[in-house]
Formats: sequence, structure tokens, C-alpha cells
Amino acid sequence: MSASASITVTDIDHLLPQTQCGKCGHPGCRPYAEAIVEGEAINRCPPGGETTVAELAELLARPVIPLEVDAESPKAAIIREDECIGCTKCIQACPVDAILGASKQMHTVIEAECTGCELCVAPCPVDCIDIVAHPGWQATRDEREQKDWLARRAELGRQRFENRNARLERQRQEKEARRRERMQARRQSRDEVQEQTAPVPSTSAPATPKPTGNARARKAAISATVRRLEKRLSVDPANQEDQNALEQARQQLADLQAQGETGAASPGRDTAPSSTLNSLRIARSAAKQRLALANRQLAHARRQRGPEEIDAAQALVARAEKTWQDACQALDNAERH
Ligand code: SF4
Ligand code: SF4
Ligand code: SF4
Repeated sequence: MSASASITVTDIDHLLPQTQCGKCGHPGCRPYAEAIVEGEAINRCPPGGETTVAELAELLARPVIPLEVDAESPKAAIIREDECIGCTKCIQACPVDAILGASKQMHTVIEAECTGCELCVAPCPVDCIDIVAHPGWQATRDEREQKDWLARRAELGRQRFENRNARLERQRQEKEARRRERMQARRQSRDEVQEQTAPVPSTSAPATPKPTGNARARKAAISATVRRLEKRLSVDPANQEDQNALEQARQQLADLQAQGETGAASPGRDTAPSSTLNSLRIARSAAKQRLALANRQLAHARRQRGPEEIDAAQALVARAEKTWQDACQALDNAERH
């Protein structure tokens, strides 16, 4: 086995300056280390400069080659705080969480933790971030202090980069879990709706309420369905399935009412208890409301739905008109006698 074959990504990563600036073309120092293991050139890190090239060359037993672009000395970002509008874009861009601030509040850079990567500069919409020579670097007095300072910056940069990535991954997983919970809740809600709407009659198969033989019981069952659907539609008014079910239930209710008042119910079945004018007026009022709703549904279908929905809405309007005419006729007859 050759020397380079036993060299790990971590060995290479420890020679990189950990500014996480991406100037090597990779999203951080470790990804560049991974690429170097795969054979990428060792001269692509401007913050590391010639020193890093030399160290990598020695570790990997490769020749020293010139840097692709000029070397850079350590930098730091400074926010001109009186110009900051608190948009938080710089916080989102900082790979080492070195910026403090909250939405619509002034932001500030934690100097000791800033690697000078410059990634916060471009996203700032008001251009209030300056990049300067790092004060900590400028305060060093000799080569040994410079070496110690670079080692501290690298260690801190690596830790903060890893912590940030772990936090982002945790947030991603939490978001995904919340999304799954929402989908599950929606599925359950849909199943419940289907269960609850099952007793409502369809136009092709009328008489959904249980055939108890008692008109009053049927009316009570349909009324309960109407109330349930109205409640659901108050939460989700655009639910077409519920709208149709409600329309059908209301129509059944009005039909039952009209039947009872005109004496059209089948012999042997209970009829509605009252044949007074008042009841007939209530029936007519219900039929009128239903007709108005059917017309609104038709208008909605014409605006936003396809031909099938428009046909269904037109059929509902036709039935509602018939019920409305029957109710008017029943009231007229009663008023005449
Ligand atoms: S300091 Fe920047 S250019 Fe150098 S390896 Fe890290 S991310 Fe790449
Ligand atoms: S504050 Fe700006 S320059 Fe400093 S580490 Fe964060 S993104 Fe990079
Ligand atoms: S991106 Fe600029 S304006 Fe927005 S919070 Fe950061 S420093 Fe302030």
C-alpha cells in the first residue's frame, strides 16, 4: 500500500484553514478534502496560500504547484449597524453562525468567530457589510503567534461549521416530520368526511336516510346531515364534495317538507305534522334558499370548473327550481282554500 493510500479525508481536512469560504469550488473545507482524496489539485485554497499547498504536497507526496489564484490573508466582516435593515440574509449565508441578530433588528458580527469567508457580503441587500483585515490576526506579533492564531481559527471554524450543519439537518428532519404529520391528519380528515357523507343520498340513488317508514325520523336524520355539512363548509367553504352533498341533503329535506304539506306522501307513511300556512311558508323559504345556493354553485362552476361540474350544477339548479315551484304551488293552494 502506498503512503497516500492510507491518508484519510480527516488528515487532509486538518491542513485546511476552515474558513468554509468555498473559494476552492467546494461547499466547505471537508468537501474539498474529500475531492483531494479523489485526486483533485491541491492548489485551490486562497486562504491557505502557499503554506497549505506545501503541507498538502508533503502529506500526499505530490509536487508543490503554484496557487490557482492569489493567496489571501485573514479577514473579518464588519456590519455598518446603522445601515442594517435586519433582513437576516447574512445570518442565513454565514457557514459558521458568526452573526447575531433577529428579524428587523440590527445585526452584528462576532469578530472572534468570523472566518472572513465573505459569504455574507453578496446577499446583503443594502451593502452594509465591509470586509477588513482580521483584528485578531493583526494583533499577532511574530510567526509563532500567527501559527497559533491560525490553528485556533481553524479549530473553531471546523466545530462551528459542523454544529451548523448538524442543526440544519435536524431542522430539515423536523420539518419533514411536521409535513408527514400534516399529510396524515389531512388523510384522516378526508376519511372522516367520506364516512360522514356516505348517508347523504346521491341523485341517482335517492332515499339515503334509513328507511324507518317515519317521515319525521327521516327529516331529523337529513337535518343532522345538513348541520354537519354546514359546519364543515364553514371551515372549508371551497370543498366541492361537501357542497354537493349539502345541496342534495337540502333538496331531500325540501322535498320531504313539500310532500308532507301537499299530502303527496305515500299512504301508510307518516306525514309532516303540520299543514298550516306557516309550515308551507317555511318550506317555500327553504326551497328559495336552496335555489339561490344552486345558482351560486352554477356561477362558481362556470368560472372555475369544467364541463362535467357545470352540467352537475345545472341539474341541481333545475331540481331546485322544481322544488321551489312545488312549494309555491302548495302555498297558493292552501291560501286559496
Ligand atoms: S478555506 Fe475556503 S478555499 Fe480553502 S478549503 Fe476551505 S472552503 Fe475551500
Ligand atoms: S460573518 Fe460573514 S465573513 Fe464572517 S464568517 Fe460569517 S459569513 Fe463569513
Ligand atoms: S444582510 Fe445586511 S441588512 Fe440584512 S441583516 Fe445582514 S447586515 Fe443587515
